[in-house]
Amino acid sequence: MNDALLERLRFCTVLPTLPSVAFRIIELVNDPNINLTQLAECIASDPALSAKMLKVANSPLYTTQRVATNLRQAVNMMGTHATVTVALSFSLVRSLSGHEGNTLFWRRTILAALACRLLGKHYGFNSDDLLLAGLLQDIGILALRSVAPDEYAELQAITDHEELLKAERNRFGSGHDEVGYWLLKRWGIPEHLSLACIASHADTPGHEAQATPLTCVASSGYFADVFLKGDHVMQIVAASESAARWLGMDACTTIAMLENMREKTQEFEALFDMCVLQTDQVDALLQEAKELITIANLGRQRELEEKTHRDVLTGAHNRRYFDEAFKHEFAVASRQGWPLSVAFLDIDHFKQVNDTYGHAAGDKALIALSRIIATQIRGSDIFVRYGGEEFVLLFPGTVAEEALIVLNRIRQAVASYCHTYDTATFHLTISAGLAFHMDEDMKHETAEGLLRTADNALYTAKQNGRNQIIKSKAK
Ligand code: GH3
Ligand code: MG
Ligand code: MG
Repeated sequence: MNDALLERLRFCTVLPTLPSVAFRIIELVNDPNINLTQLAECIASDPALSAKMLKVANSPLYTTQRVATNLRQAVNMMGTHATVTVALSFSLVRSLSGHEGNTLFWRRTILAALACRLLGKHYGFNSDDLLLAGLLQDIGILALRSVAPDEYAELQAITDHEELLKAERNRFGSGHDEVGYWLLKRWGIPEHLSLACIASHADTPGHEAQATPLTCVASSGYFADVFLKGDHVMQIVAASESAARWLGMDACTTIAMLENMREKTQEFEALFDMCVLQTDQVDALLQEAKELITIANLGRQRELEEKTHRDVLTGAHNRRYFDEAFKHEFAVASRQGWPLSVAFLDIDHFKQVNDTYGHAAGDKALIALSRIIATQIRGSDIFVRYGGEEFVLLFPGTVAEEALIVLNRIRQAVASYCHTYDTATFHLTISAGLAFHMDEDMKHETAEGLLRTADNALYTAKQNGRNQIIKSKAK
């Protein structure tokens, strides 16, 4: 931490302090012989906290079979750990929030704590610990505000949390993450909780995303922001990205978490006596986000298929597959002296189909045409959608004359096929250029060279009037 700031903090007399009941609870926690009776007595010394604990024990957040009618029962039902963390949570919020219960700081803190708790539940971590960690993560802001009220007031207008941290670092040499950690250590809060302050702003993990209690805290602020700045899908995108980055959570689960948060907010507001949600725009926003995510998932599925071996539209092999296969076939043919024929195919005047009947008609025609070609070739031939309306046919072990026969059969089948779209009907033709390797004394140095020869022959076919196959000349 920045030295000058540390000095100021050390000598600051108005730093946030722990309420006395919280101090006693922390003392008890550090006592290995802690028992529930002592704990219940300690809480009973604070009537408001006692009432709160009873309310919590009976709230749907702690769904238990029985109803607690007194504090002792409530403590019994919740157990030591939950009682300690929940009592600490409530006494801290109550004493620190003072008169500013509904400020942005507290609304964000409560929402982030709720997110922490739900994430903890989702991943099987202790959700009470996470609730407390969530509440404590930004406590450094309160400390900075106390130590430098005027300077901090100038940062008040910054609503973006990361921007705020940057501004603090510029102004004070350290941000609320370090300050919060320092304060919690001073209070004797256990390390696994005080680290939450640092974790909430740690840099993106260099390793693969993994859910831990600390990474839950790290992403909780983004979940909270969705509800605070509830008029923008970008907040949901940011939450989803941070959840993916920190926790490895997919977008659909993120949305489900946000919906869960929305559902539980009221309960939380009642428990903390705060009004954290000011808008129900969030509902509409979540609905919109769900639709967006469905679309994004479809896109991703398409992307995945593209990345593997098949073209999504036509079912032909894709470029990725072709590049590998072609290299391999060329090498084997060259080594073994086996013939290899390659044809470049291109649909004639295809642009006119799109222009006349629309892109969907063009797509449908591409599918039909691919089916025709696929039925004319052998299983050992490789049919590739090279791009747009260009295709490549690879005929391993096939001499040029044989390939030419197949290509002409394809050309005729294509030309005689009647395409239909709505009430329209039309015909298409193709042109192709054929090149060959290790046949008729023809040898190419490289696979690329062989393909270029086929492309040149295609160009000639187009020049000569289309709907024809041109076989490249042997040397
Ligand atoms: P040419 O006989 O010289 O080949 O004329 P052409 O119109 O077929 O050639 P050009 O390269 O000018 O146009 C190709 C057209 O193919 C343009 C593009 O809109 C269309 N196209 C490419 N990919 C797709 C696709 O996936 N779906 C549809 N519907 N059209 C496509
Ligand atoms: Mg074309
Ligand atoms: Mg073209």
